[in-house]
Amino acid sequence: MSTGEARSLARFAWLSIAAAIATIGLKTTAWHITGSVGLLSDALESIVNLVAAVVALLALRVAESPADEEHAHGHEKVEYFSSGLEGALILAAAAAIAFAAMQRLLHPAPIEALGLGLVVNVAASIINLVVARVLLGAAKRYRSIVLEADGHHLMTDVWTSAGVVAGLGLVHFTGLAWLDPIVAIGVACNIVVTGVRLLKRSGSGLLDASLPAESVVAIEHALAAFRPDGVAYHALKTRQAGTRTFVSVHLLMPGSWTVKRGHDMAERVEAAIRELAPKTTVFTHLEPIEDPASYEDQGLDRK
Ligand SMILES: [Zn+2]
Ligand SMILES: [Zn+2]
Repeated sequence: MSTGEARSLARFAWLSIAAAIATIGLKTTAWHITGSVGLLSDALESIVNLVAAVVALLALRVAESPADEEHAHGHEKVEYFSSGLEGALILAAAAAIAFAAMQRLLHPAPIEALGLGLVVNVAASIINLVVARVLLGAAKRYRSIVLEADGHHLMTDVWTSAGVVAGLGLVHFTGLAWLDPIVAIGVACNIVVTGVRLLKRSGSGLLDASLPAESVVAIEHALAAFRPDGVAYHALKTRQAGTRTFVSVHLLMPGSWTVKRGHDMAERVEAAIRELAPKTTVFTHLEPIEDPASYEDQGLDRK
């Protein structure tokens, strides 16, 4: 493992916390200057980002703490609580945007000049956009659903501001006031998709979802490579627990092999599977290939 991988992912959560504090500061200052209530509510919205980032930090810290007696399989699954919360917050943001847009559709009012408020919002969005790109990149590299969820959360803020600017621009050039809430509703729909996807994946993770099909195929290939050595397998089961991967498989070998020979072979097979992805834990179970009893234990429950 390189030192880069061993470094805590918490540093990305700190980046997100810094971004939230910066945007809160920006909007609070603008509120003090203008006295605009809209900016105050914007600042309050950024507090949600701060809370989410702190939860992400705590989740990453807990997830990285080593396995102990109480949690012998590690603590990585705590990551799904953080990503689930982010999904729920994204849905709440979508509901708020859609509600405000419906109000504007039903009770059209001339759009007030936003001036400084708009400038501050765009500046905050640029901060969020930059940090979101960093988080989403790291999420991919380290396969972290916590960072992915926080990155998407920040992106919803970016899309919201982009929608506001696009709506104002459209109204300015066409004179059609209803275009602004329509754009906002479009943004809300886009955000709902992101939120639902995060909630689904978090729930699926808590239910011990198997690895994606391509990862399972890669493991099957690694196992098949030992067939010429006389090793077959069955009962391959995988699960993704946050950033940790669990693989369990039965290895069938000639019953005449010594325990030592069988175990040496199992060690080689386990190493080959571990090589496929970082933080992979492999459990094997050795069985004599010619014994019918070896084939009656492939499901979760015994026949
Ligand atoms: Zn062993
Ligand atoms: Zn078996």
